[in-house]
Amino acid sequence: LAPDYIRAIAPYQPGKPIDELARELGLDASRIVKLASNENPLGASPKALIAIDAAMDTIARYPDGSGFDLKAALADKFNVDAAQVVLGNGSNDVLEMAARAFLSSATSAVFSEHAFAVYPLATLAVGATGITAPAKDYGHDLAAMLAAIRADTRMVFIANPNNPTGTLLSNADMLAFLEQVPSQVIVVLDEAYGEYLPQELQSDALIWLARFPNLIVTRTFSKAYGLAGLRVGYALASAAVADMLNRVRQPFNVNSLALVAATAALNDDEFIARSYALNQLGMRQLTQGLHLLNIDYIPSYANFLAIRIGNATAMYRRLLEHGVIVRPIGNYGMPEYLRVSIGLAAENNQFLQALEDAIKD
Ligand code: PMP
Repeated sequence: LAPDYIRAIAPYQPGKPIDELARELGLDASRIVKLASNENPLGASPKALIAIDAAMDTIARYPDGSGFDLKAALADKFNVDAAQVVLGNGSNDVLEMAARAFLSSATSAVFSEHAFAVYPLATLAVGATGITAPAKDYGHDLAAMLAAIRADTRMVFIANPNNPTGTLLSNADMLAFLEQVPSQVIVVLDEAYGEYLPQELQSDALIWLARFPNLIVTRTFSKAYGLAGLRVGYALASAAVADMLNRVRQPFNVNSLALVAATAALNDDEFIARSYALNQLGMRQLTQGLHLLNIDYIPSYANFLAIRIGNATAMYRRLLEHGVIVRPIGNYGMPEYLRVSIGLAAENNQFLQALEDAIKD
């Protein structure tokens, strides 16, 4: 009974719960390592945990539907007006709000080949047309994306760094792109992995907000802040665009515990620095290990690596049998690649060991 444009959507494929996998494989669940969803291996910011404890007695009440404190903290940190901040149930929620607010069946949205799976989902769910621009070296090809923009295009999605490839566009290239995009096209710049960039490569997006009223920057507490299970993300945009997003936002879309945890985590600079440093070390550990195994990978600026493995589905299964969960990315048009998240040193080791064993099998 659903309309054709809904029936045409390929469902998002979530991973199986660890306990279920362990049962299927006859393994001890506590020995399974999950490096499949780009989560923070350190867990959550300790400040967030304290804030959650203190907020437990509020959960019989609805959350603050305006997210006043978290928006104020974000506005303060990023030097924008609170009216420029929109909160989401994860940044996926904000991406969907953008599609609902600015797309319709008479419009199209452009995204890159090998870009994050939620862009086509959000586009197709509102009956809009998705246009896939070809990638360059597995990353975004901004010239191809510009060329793909049609008269009916109202949105372009860009992830920087990109998931699942970890590629990065420079600030200069991104700025030149914004200068060329027609003003009726909203540019959604998804910076879910921005905290993993070294200081000298940090995004200038917040400086651009004042110049480009069609820019939406999205970020999340799911990655470096370690709050993936709480579901909280946000958008920063011009006040006019933020107003449109808020019109399609569910009234209580971010729950009470997520609000207090994110507010506490936001200024936990020590935790972010620790997460960044661990990721740098883990990235070096994995790339060195892959070199020794003679396995090719795409150099990554995020907290994961896309590695070239040949028959990735078969290797995914073999790694599972060795107790390591990674992500095959055939659904991203990369059937020869597996995406592995950077874990703790021991987890990275277990992955490399399993890979070595699996290659020999
Ligand atoms: N954008 C990108 C590029 C991602 O990789 C992810 C997480 N997989 C998200 C957005 C969404 O994350 P969340 O909804 O947890 O904020």
